[in-house]
Amino acid sequence: MKAAVFYGTEDIRMEELETPSPGEGELLLKVSGCGVCGTDAGIYYGKSDKAVPPVVIGHEITGTVERVGPGVVSFREGQQVVVDPFIFCGVCDFCKTGSPLLCSNESFLGYNRNGGYCQYTVVPEQNAYSVPETLGFEERVVCETLATVLAGFDRLGPKPGSSFLILGAGTVGLLWNQVVRNSLPAAIVQTEVVKRRRETAAALGADVTISPCDTDVVETVRSLLPLGVDCIVDATGSTEAVSQALPALKKGGTFLSFGICPPDERLSLSLNWVYRSQVRIITSRRPPRHKIQEAVCILQRGIIDTKAVVTSVRPLSETAEAFRLFEKERDREIKTAIDPWK
Ligand SMILES: [Zn+2]
Ligand SMILES: [Zn+2]
Repeated sequence: MKAAVFYGTEDIRMEELETPSPGEGELLLKVSGCGVCGTDAGIYYGKSDKAVPPVVIGHEITGTVERVGPGVVSFREGQQVVVDPFIFCGVCDFCKTGSPLLCSNESFLGYNRNGGYCQYTVVPEQNAYSVPETLGFEERVVCETLATVLAGFDRLGPKPGSSFLILGAGTVGLLWNQVVRNSLPAAIVQTEVVKRRRETAAALGADVTISPCDTDVVETVRSLLPLGVDCIVDATGSTEAVSQALPALKKGGTFLSFGICPPDERLSLSLNWVYRSQVRIITSRRPPRHKIQEAVCILQRGIIDTKAVVTSVRPLSETAEAFRLFEKERDREIKTAIDPWK
């Protein structure tokens, strides 16, 4: 089978690998698509040490069950699935006390086990979710990302009538936009550097979009909402964007750190302000398993515009090019999906 194998920073090689065999409790998937995520681009450019090379990266996987391994009970050949890439051990102290997302022995498809930038991949049965045939390609590709957004939304716990400031309008920011717009918000303000993405955010449901480079974010928010916003969601992972936006938070409001900031960056924060304004600062990292199923149900309703998010489909041989576009030409694409059979 064809695979794009990651060997190290800016080193991805197209190789012919043996098609893997599913072990006990595993499925062999014929990969139909795999989304390109900021994390994958980060791995490629050496900003993340999560991947253990040589490995096939790519964790936003959708495919068809080609073969089931021994002991598989809930799948048969030919079923279409989406994948939760996070594998917990089930036996460490965190897993055993009901917090598998904090597992001490975690593994991850596309980091330390082969992922989706290839034609066939093996996944544990527990990580696969069957999806209806009617679910489109773009829906299946964004399913895993939407599940992480739904988990963040649960943590944030907004109410109808809450106001939002969403930082960033890439894939994650645009999914946040759409989840929030369905929650009867009082207002959605969204920041984004790239014009094309601002336009998409406005078309999807943001009441006001701001370019943070030439407009004062806090001033704009306060002119619309003098008390500030109830919720700020960071979908940029930029410490600078967060520092700039935090003073727009209403007293008693919540800031959700959702984008992944570089590990060596530090935020200068007044704890006096946190204390006096009684704001909450929370995070959300991975979705619990059932969120994938919720994402499937929501996508089936057709209320999330995924075509606005998945803007191109490229062959395996253009995996490195997809990372380059993500990193260096943000105005070209929003999310790229890799189709290994193209
Ligand atoms: Zn991702
Ligand atoms: Zn564990």
